[in-house]
Amino acid sequence: MSTGPVTVPLRVLWWCALLLAIVTGSAIAAGTGDASDNAVPDDGGDISRYYVLVQAFFPAADHIGPLAGEPPAAEVHAAGRVVGYVYLTDHILPIPAYSGKPISTLVALDLEGHIAGVRIVHHEEPILLAGVSEQQLHAYVAQYQGIDVRDRIKVGGRPAEGMAIVDAISGATITAMVINQTIAKTAQRVAEARGLLDGLDASPVAALSDDSRPIWRLVWHERQFRIGVLVTALVALTLILLFQDWLAARPRLLLYVRDGFLVFTVVFIGWYAMAQLSVINVLTFVHAIGRDFRWETFLIDPLMFILWSFVAMTLLLWGRGVYCGWLCPFGAVQELTNQLARRLGVRQWEFPEVVHERLWALKYIVLLILFGMSLQSLQLAEQYAEVEPFKTAVTLRFQREWGYVIYAAALLVISIVNRKFYCKYVCPLGAALAIPARHRLFDWLRRRKDCGKPCQICANECEVRAISPTGEINVNECHYCLDCQVTFWNEGKCPPLVQRGKRHARGARARELAQEMVLSFRAPESSDTESGPDSDDRASR
Ligand code: SF4
Ligand code: SF4
Repeated sequence: MSTGPVTVPLRVLWWCALLLAIVTGSAIAAGTGDASDNAVPDDGGDISRYYVLVQAFFPAADHIGPLAGEPPAAEVHAAGRVVGYVYLTDHILPIPAYSGKPISTLVALDLEGHIAGVRIVHHEEPILLAGVSEQQLHAYVAQYQGIDVRDRIKVGGRPAEGMAIVDAISGATITAMVINQTIAKTAQRVAEARGLLDGLDASPVAALSDDSRPIWRLVWHERQFRIGVLVTALVALTLILLFQDWLAARPRLLLYVRDGFLVFTVVFIGWYAMAQLSVINVLTFVHAIGRDFRWETFLIDPLMFILWSFVAMTLLLWGRGVYCGWLCPFGAVQELTNQLARRLGVRQWEFPEVVHERLWALKYIVLLILFGMSLQSLQLAEQYAEVEPFKTAVTLRFQREWGYVIYAAALLVISIVNRKFYCKYVCPLGAALAIPARHRLFDWLRRRKDCGKPCQICANECEVRAISPTGEINVNECHYCLDCQVTFWNEGKCPPLVQRGKRHARGARARELAQEMVLSFRAPESSDTESGPDSDDRASR
């Protein structure tokens, strides 16, 4: 399907904006900070920089030795005696967390094999930057103080013999699980290597070793319910798409199905499972391809992984509209808000066509600026990706600083009078999805030769104004809501169908009249031949 008359200007704009945006993004990034600002601290084996922290764990400590041995740990001295050991988890077991980077945690062990204290010294977890406070993170790791490393440490669940339970961080379960596995495994290794477990029953330690599965497999196991619900919903959505013509011919049923799915998207995918995709996922993926790509980085969040896999498939088959029209929680909130407003009779307001088409380009420029920034520093791009209101409206359910809340709420208010305003003009994720969607395999949205010439019904009804006045659907902008397909099959609304219906009705009436005339001519003959059989009989005799 053609992209309409704006294809050429957009392409030109694209390439001009590409250069400009990358330069602008890099310039902002260079002026704001360097990636190295956020790099894992390079202690060069000198752990004494954490002396103050270590003193909090061992108040009598007066000296910290160098990191040494295998696994590397430093002796803590007090009055000439060793009183414990400290080490950094990322030196021993650098498990990638939610951000794809390890969380650097300082762990102290006493000589009895207990954890004397834990402190996070560096992390790049986006969920934490977005809303879970540093205090919550520190409160989480503080739970490890006093735990016996022979115990099996579990995040959440019921306490049992030989098991220590720590409470998860609400909204950052994966981060909590990664920290837990890192602390548990490294503490066990260091304690064993330093002989802190000598002479004691080794069986609990063996139990700990049982859980040697990669962290992502633990997370997938722990999230079976959510995975099951999501996969079921995606199968249902696939069926909806495959039987779209059948559904579009039944508008009331489609309305229930679609609105029901949108509510599911907001409540389950967004608020409950917090699986709102973000442009940051795209940037992380692009950067990972160029560097140390590891599937573990993406498998760590099963729902996001499944959603992205599904989106990749639908991009190839149908374009970006399947995600934007059905699976994006913020898109669904906007759509439901606008539907409610229109039912309440709120008047809609739209930009003139020429302005509307030019504004489409804005989201591509936002994307390019973020991409340019990410070349310099992914962390900085993450901060500026707050242009997406997703974290505020979906992940954090508006429980955030008022500046972010006002921004997200303003976008929703605008969507009351201008349907999916944010999606149409601002969303960098929508822009990122539109790029590969150009190479989709199928065009399953039906059109008639009268579309746009002169009929404008679908164009006026399209939720994102993706139909040009000449009738073509711009699949880069289409959200696959199927509204135009409902009209396509509506015999009382789609003008060519109305005309055809009228022609059929006229034809049927003409046939009826002709039949009536034939019958009325035949009527006298029939009365003459009332005793026809006799006559025939006679004729045949
Ligand atoms: S354009 Fe952005 S906000 Fe809108 S539905 Fe798509 S991804 Fe969601
Ligand atoms: S009305 Fe048609 S063209 Fe417009 S978003 Fe919906 S499916 Fe796409």
